[in-house]
Formats: sequence, structure tokens, C-alpha cells
Amino acid sequence: MKISRRTLISGVIAVAGSAVLPRIAWANTTLSLGAGMLDTLSDGHLMLPRSFVLGDIPVAEADAVLEPFGLAGAASLLPDCNLTLWRGDDRTVLFDAGSGPDFMPTAGHLMAAMDALGITPEDVTDVVFTHGHPDHLWGALDDFDEPLFANAQHHMGQIEWDYWTDPALPDTIAADRLTFAVGAARRLEVLAEGINLFNDGDEVLPGITARATHGHTPGHMAFEIATEEETVMVLGDCIANHHIAFVRPDWPNGSDQDTAQGAETRAALLAQLADTGTVFAGFHLPAPGLGRAVRDGNAFRFEPLT
Ligand SMILES: [Zn+2]
Repeated sequence: MKISRRTLISGVIAVAGSAVLPRIAWANTTLSLGAGMLDTLSDGHLMLPRSFVLGDIPVAEADAVLEPFGLAGAASLLPDCNLTLWRGDDRTVLFDAGSGPDFMPTAGHLMAAMDALGITPEDVTDVVFTHGHPDHLWGALDDFDEPLFANAQHHMGQIEWDYWTDPALPDTIAADRLTFAVGAARRLEVLAEGINLFNDGDEVLPGITARATHGHTPGHMAFEIATEEETVMVLGDCIANHHIAFVRPDWPNGSDQDTAQGAETRAALLAQLADTGTVFAGFHLPAPGLGRAVRDGNAFRFEPLT
């Protein structure tokens, strides 16, 4: 396993008129794994109100955990968005489709990252969704509401598909997530023809196995990519930050739709990842999102791959 390249697409982006710190915009980082190649591609980053992530955790308790990460007192959190691209066995597999232009101005930059890597949307043979949230799904269509990855087969977990395509969902989802429901339904309607639906443990594509990691959304899936060299895991959002999720995996994460199930999934998965030393790609971990979990007392620590 070897990290062989990092491409910067521009130096520093200053966000005009806000207190946001300048950000390095990176395009992609490549990990060579036997005959295959894994890239993480930047789609930019999100700007989330603190309360969306931290929910009801008392401010002082949260700040005590966030302080070593320089985030104590932060009014908003700016998680990176790292998509995973896997190339092997004549397939070019993109995990999630990014935000597209309609979610947040700081995200939806996937095309620049793909440009820097020299690939086009038409080169993608498969799009495999971890879940149906906007930053993972909304980039799947182009400006004409046609599939952007025009030659790709799309894949989603059956439970996740059933959830977001349920016509009753807009009436039952939390009011502040109504746009998530409407936005997902509109896109999945376009992708419905020919979609491959799968379940926990299924081999979605050769060497790529689905792992149920429910809680963040009802049917959230992570994926194991097995190569002759080692297995790497694509986490999606089941471990969605490098601070509280590792230090206090038992705390509820406000971005999880079922916070209790999300915490249970996270704690169990972290223990497994740490004990096996498995390398993973985390969608919202600090760019490029590649690393391992290490036990740290009763908790864990994110150790980026260098
Ligand atoms: Zn996300």
C-alpha cells in the first residue's frame, strides 16, 4: 500500500465576508493497492451549525473534547467531503456522487477533482451510494436532470432505497430535513431505471462487499474493498468526524437520523477497525480522509495515513 500523489488544484480559498479560515483546496490523493488504485476526491466541504452535529451535548462537555482539535467554541463546523474512487478489474467505481451545485456553495466541486485526475463522468462505470443524504446523492444528476455519470450503473442498499422513495416520507421526516426527502426522491426517480439494489453482506461488485452500518440513515452502508494486498473500508458517514466520534463514540451525533443506533454502530465499528488495523476512507474525516483508528484509553484516535 502506497500513497503516491496529492494534487493541489489551487492554493488557498478565502471565503469573502465570513470568519471562515482559509482552506487548502486539494483535488485527489492516490493509494496504490496491488493491481487496484483508490483515490479520494475532494468535493469541497460543508458548513454545519454546531447544533446540527453536537445536538443536545452540553456545551462545556463538548468543548472539552473539541479543545485539542482547535474547535472549542466554534459556531460552525466545516467537515471536508472526500469521495472515494476505486479503479481495478476494468471498473471505475465512484462511492457517492457528491453534493452537486444545489446544496451548499462550499461543496459540489467534484468535477474539478476529477479533471485534475484526468477522468470524466463518462469514465465512471459504477456509482455506489453509502446513503441518500444531499452531500452524497445530489451530485448524481446534471443540469438537465439526467444522470451525470451517464454510462454508470447505480447501486444503493435496498433499505435505504425504500426509505427515500417512500411517498409518505415528506410527511414523517423531521421538518428541518424535508428538503433532504424531496431532493432524494426527485433524484432517485431518475436513477430508478436499472438501479441495482443490494443488502448487507452482498458482493455489490467483484471484491466490494456491503456492510450494514445503519443509524446515520436507516439503510446506511459501508463497503469493504478486498484486494490481494489488503482490505480497505469506505465508511461513508457512519464515523462522521475525527473528534467527538472517536473520543466519545457513545455520544449522540445530531446528524444521525437515529442517534442511538448511530452511536451503537460507530462504537462497534471503531473497535473492529482499531483491532484489525484496517485502513479506511471517511467521507467527512480531514482531507484526504484516509487513515486508521487507534485505541486511546477507553476511546479512539484518528491516525491519518501519511
Ligand atoms: Zn455526509
